[in-house]
Amino acid sequence: MNYNVNEKGYYGDFGGAYIPEMLYPNVEELRQNYIKVMQEPEFQEEFHNLLKEYVGRPTPLYFAKRFSEKYGTKIYLKREDLCHTGAHKVNNTIGQILMAKRLGKTRIIAETGAGQHGVATATVCALMGLECIVYMGAVDIKRQAPNVARMKMLGAKVVSAESGSKTLKDATNEAIRDWINNPTDTHYIIGSVVGPHPYPDMVARFQSVISEEVKKQLLEKEGRENPDYVVACVGGGSNAAGIYYHYLDNPEVGIIAVEAAGKGIHSGESAATSALGKEGIIHGSKTLLMQTPDGQITEPYSISAGLDYPGVGPMHANLFRSGRGEFISVTDDDAMQAGLELSKLEGIIPAIETSHALAIFNDRKFKKDDVVVINLSGRGDKDLNTYIEYFDLA
Ligand SMILES: *Cc1c(COP(=O)(O)O)cnc(C)c1O
Repeated sequence: MNYNVNEKGYYGDFGGAYIPEMLYPNVEELRQNYIKVMQEPEFQEEFHNLLKEYVGRPTPLYFAKRFSEKYGTKIYLKREDLCHTGAHKVNNTIGQILMAKRLGKTRIIAETGAGQHGVATATVCALMGLECIVYMGAVDIKRQAPNVARMKMLGAKVVSAESGSKTLKDATNEAIRDWINNPTDTHYIIGSVVGPHPYPDMVARFQSVISEEVKKQLLEKEGRENPDYVVACVGGGSNAAGIYYHYLDNPEVGIIAVEAAGKGIHSGESAATSALGKEGIIHGSKTLLMQTPDGQITEPYSISAGLDYPGVGPMHANLFRSGRGEFISVTDDDAMQAGLELSKLEGIIPAIETSHALAIFNDRKFKKDDVVVINLSGRGDKDLNTYIEYFDLA
């Protein structure tokens, strides 16, 4: 079995490029060039040099001793929280800004929900001196004021999306409209392994540096490249794709994906796409999607803004359907407790997205000698207010 993308842009039944005809030239230009550009030695050198000098890679693979003792198995944390800007997202935006430059683009657009991808995009635009426009729902602009301020400080223009529910979906529609109107000078930086082919594959390749490093680091620490399990939270699925990538076709390595169950899978307030989703099309790709029986997209919910997405990337839809991946969903309450627990046991305050991945150990048991690598996708600074309210820490 091959769990990576095929030459048509599909992962099993999922993926493809379901786009309006007017977008075709932009997507096709990218599709024809992305692999060629990524394989150029100068591109590789510039990408890896920026990851090292600017992002701070390689990130440590940290053996979490006290956390491991508590759960009776060997737990390693891949410290993406130590990347510049505080999460894995910047690996992708660095890659895509270099791609945009190679394709002669001078103007960058992006959409953002909670603002993390907007900040990572504004950061690399500042770094490269490119114009940056970030579309964000009017409701999210209000809810995420600190990230809006960050983007502005970094020189980006934040454009408010005023249609529909005024959140991520509407910001995405505005970004797509912009791209259709500016087909020659503009590159659209998508923030996860979602969107029409080649985006899911391109983003997965940029994030694959995570598992590339894990292989080397684990060889040093454990004398073997392969852990027994790799674990990640899944919103769109980019940090997960990064830590699974070099293990996808290696059946010795178990793949565990953790989704947000919100207030409970069947509470009506959830983002557990694998449990609730049906085949559908969102943002230009065929995938699993939370929807009503007549095909309307269901509003997702999670306490964590980064997991609050009604779909998953096509790679993950296929990992689920094929049985290659084990999918677990974790409620808000269990995630919050796990975030607090890691803080107290290891001195690391994780992003609430990441806390979902840390919460599996009460129910999912591992053997004493199992090596379990969790992708610590981001740090918790951005979530401090949510932690404060939840635990009454003020
Ligand atoms: C955005 C984000 C996620 C979710 O996005 P993926 O594409 O699923 O990785 C997870 N963790 C953190 C810290 C994030 O900022």
